[in-house]
Amino acid sequence: MTTLVVGHKNPDTDSVCAAIALSDLKKKLGEDIAPAVQGELNPESKFVLEKFGVAAPDIVTSYAGKDIYIVDNSDLAQCPDDLGQANILGIVDHHKLGDVTTGQPLECWIWPVGCTCTVVASMYDFFSVEIPKDIAGIMLCAILSDTVIFKSATCTDTDKKICAKLSKICGESDLETLGIEMFKVKSAVEGTPIRELVLRDYKDFNMGGKGVGVGQLELVDLSIVDGIKADLEKDIQALKEEKGHHSVFLMLTDIMKEGTELLIVSDDESVVEKAFGVTPANGKVWLDNIMSRKKQIVPDLEKVFG
Ligand code: MG
Ligand code: MG
Ligand code: MG
Repeated sequence: MTTLVVGHKNPDTDSVCAAIALSDLKKKLGEDIAPAVQGELNPESKFVLEKFGVAAPDIVTSYAGKDIYIVDNSDLAQCPDDLGQANILGIVDHHKLGDVTTGQPLECWIWPVGCTCTVVASMYDFFSVEIPKDIAGIMLCAILSDTVIFKSATCTDTDKKICAKLSKICGESDLETLGIEMFKVKSAVEGTPIRELVLRDYKDFNMGGKGVGVGQLELVDLSIVDGIKADLEKDIQALKEEKGHHSVFLMLTDIMKEGTELLIVSDDESVVEKAFGVTPANGKVWLDNIMSRKKQIVPDLEKVFG
């Protein structure tokens, strides 16, 4: 039976590339293993795989009875719905420890770094396996994506060190240009249905018993969404009602200005002021220097929700 490596729902570039890379490493260590994704790839991930000539993983939604590795999360809400019937061999991640538990000991690599691919690249070193050129390229892109070209508060020296090594292997030396090229693909909103944009990088959280959704669009320029902002606001309102959530937030992150406009629909808008110390007006607020959902949005909201 082939073991599967899978990242979170609404796969992002790190989830996809970490699954591919970990699967490559484990195969070289003798495992019968393949990468998988829980859903369609986003435009950025497609661009990255095409650029380095790497095949997209199969979409797999049921994991019952399978041996699996989980990458880029350890949250039940982000994992396959039938995770309880799967056998978890390991977790490789860079988020806070989630609520996934196992019945048996597991291989666990969870580091406080900017990207799961930073951990996977380090695992190649640990096991003394050479990183192939194409895998180096996609891991490099995943790190540039997750760390927003090293600008995110989540970025560490380890991420930068690994990127320097990967760039030598894959022959990409201008990381800023590569990163911006990728974020331009990620920023493209034209012709994409509004709900797809809202859900493109969206996560549900349980905060003190209340449902909270936080989506994010990372843009090379905030003005890209000027023409659709009202529609985005209307849609997160609808999403909040559909989900019965207390709050739904959409982060419109300007990666060049290094800040985020937060769109807010909430039963109690004062949570935003309590969390971030700024007063929203008309359901939105600008948050200077805030780009990371994981490190700068979710922890502060969780404190307020208790
Ligand atoms: Mg991710
Ligand atoms: Mg990640
Ligand atoms: Mg991200």
